[in-house]
Amino acid sequence: MARKFNFSAGPAMLPASVIERAQQEMLDWNGSGMSVMEMSHRGKEYMSIAAKAEKDLREVMAIPDNYKVLFLQGGASSQFAAIPLNLLGDKTSADYINTGMWSKKAIAEAKRYGTVNIAADTSEGGFTSVPTQAELKLNPDAAYVHYTPNETIGGVEFDYIPETGGVPLVADMSSTILSRPIDVSKFGLIYAGAQKNIGPAGLCIVIVRDDLLGKASANCPTMFNYAIHAENESMYNTPATYSWYMAGLVFEWLQQQGGLSAMGVLNKRKADKLYAAIDATDFYGSPVAKNARSWMNVPFTLADPELDAEFLKGASAKGLVTLKGHRSVGGMRASIYNAMPEEGVDALVAYMKEFASQY
Ligand SMILES: *Cc1c(COP(=O)(O)O)cnc(C)c1O
Repeated sequence: MARKFNFSAGPAMLPASVIERAQQEMLDWNGSGMSVMEMSHRGKEYMSIAAKAEKDLREVMAIPDNYKVLFLQGGASSQFAAIPLNLLGDKTSADYINTGMWSKKAIAEAKRYGTVNIAADTSEGGFTSVPTQAELKLNPDAAYVHYTPNETIGGVEFDYIPETGGVPLVADMSSTILSRPIDVSKFGLIYAGAQKNIGPAGLCIVIVRDDLLGKASANCPTMFNYAIHAENESMYNTPATYSWYMAGLVFEWLQQQGGLSAMGVLNKRKADKLYAAIDATDFYGSPVAKNARSWMNVPFTLADPELDAEFLKGASAKGLVTLKGHRSVGGMRASIYNAMPEEGVDALVAYMKEFASQY
């Protein structure tokens, strides 16, 4: 069996050793005589799996004790509504930084529940840069400031954490969480859909500071209420048990790799190699400002788009798949999350050189 190098933006590759471990435990988890999929979420076996996953994530990310970690469903997209419903409290407006397609969706949803102040907007440049701190027009009376540290579609990533002067900072980290160490204490709330850098789809992780809980609006659905999920340790209803278990295996794998500092070094090296290949020749180009280039999602174009189909065909023949760019951007996009081995990036770089010299 040959596993391909899958450059999909999500659902994305998982570490092969994690999938193998799941395979070994598939029919009989730890002598329980059943698959994790078949267990009661309230039984002691599953409770131990869930608790260990949370403990390992807390260790890997160094999450302070005054934060709750919630294992929810509905994807990052449900949080676009849950965040204003939970965090507006008695304030009327929130600040949003608009840097791409995912910020735009978060903004559209927040507008249903309150006033949105656009603190910065990079749409004029085609979402290829990030605003500087000085460019942010923040309202000191905002309930929170929302931003997208890594725009998965545009491949645009903040190279700093915005300073908000005490207003809680909310981050959609779906495509950058776990890619390197971050200081969780700088954030009021972090959320991420699992299918990029955490585990299989169906799970969304929310990390929220204690003091932000308990302010949900009266019409917030119970299933969107973070305080309810926190009180019930994410078991108010049946959670995505198997995805949660798989995420736990990924957290163990991260510990074995040397944690997030080791991942950060590796991810930087992988991204540097790929951008170097793009910059080495006019044959390829990157639309993104150099200081805003994502480590995780690398869009690139061919100078002659007529060759796009040929490029993709040749790549696929070499086991380099899902490189087609998002329909809104065109060209190519290589997503190189934690589970993409460095050999995958090396193989892509070698193919890019070969293709450029051939054409
Ligand atoms: C993928 C993605 C989402 C959407 O996630 P779902 O889990 O599909 O709702 C939101 N924000 C960002 C930054 C993403 O990459």
